[in-house]
Amino acid sequence: MSFDRRSFSVVPAGLVDLLLPLRCAGCGLAGSVLCAECDRRFRELRVIRPPALFREPPIHALARYRGRVRTTLLAYKEGARRDLERPLGEHVATAVRAVLASGSIHETDSLRLVAAPSRDAAVRRRGRAHLTRLARRAERRLPGVRTADCLRLSPRVRESVGLGSGPRFENLRGGVLPRPGRLPPPGTPVLLLDDVLTTGATVLNCRRALSEVGIPVVAVLVLASACRES
Ligand SMILES: [Zn+2]
Repeated sequence: MSFDRRSFSVVPAGLVDLLLPLRCAGCGLAGSVLCAECDRRFRELRVIRPPALFREPPIHALARYRGRVRTTLLAYKEGARRDLERPLGEHVATAVRAVLASGSIHETDSLRLVAAPSRDAAVRRRGRAHLTRLARRAERRLPGVRTADCLRLSPRVRESVGLGSGPRFENLRGGVLPRPGRLPPPGTPVLLLDDVLTTGATVLNCRRALSEVGIPVVAVLVLASACRES
């Protein structure tokens, strides 16, 4: 009989760390949350150009969604590996710093990080809004940058896993809504954060929702790209 971290889902995370040896979430190597080899795969920041999406603002990706990267992100998002929040949050901070240094964003003092929202049911199942947690972790390392948790999904949006491109766009059309009390002032530049870019439907609808209340998305950052690129 074997145990993994899911076997201890009712035990506080700190206690799980004492009960189980630390293993890399990407490959299982003992000794660290994310081994050097898996960590390295989140350091390949590049601009991606999905054919169905806009060219501006630029979309940056930390990694390609496959192999160890996919295993790591699923462990963070759907599994019990909350300890990945620190290394992934640091990668987000490093990437935002690189995007700022590239000069594509001018008003860096008021930049807000906005995470793409998950369905309420998914947030309840996971016990947290996993992307907002990463944004808040990253902002600690980014002077002048703050997180705005200002988007939500309409209850009519269904789980999109397994949907093809057309149905995915249809499912999300108009389904991203602003949270009025949490919006930054109109004109505040936003860097939109998403985990996996598949078709771009989420990014497109987040950008549209913000644009309709006068908030420009000046850059997009995704943890990993799973899309076909032109
Ligand atoms: Zn590893």
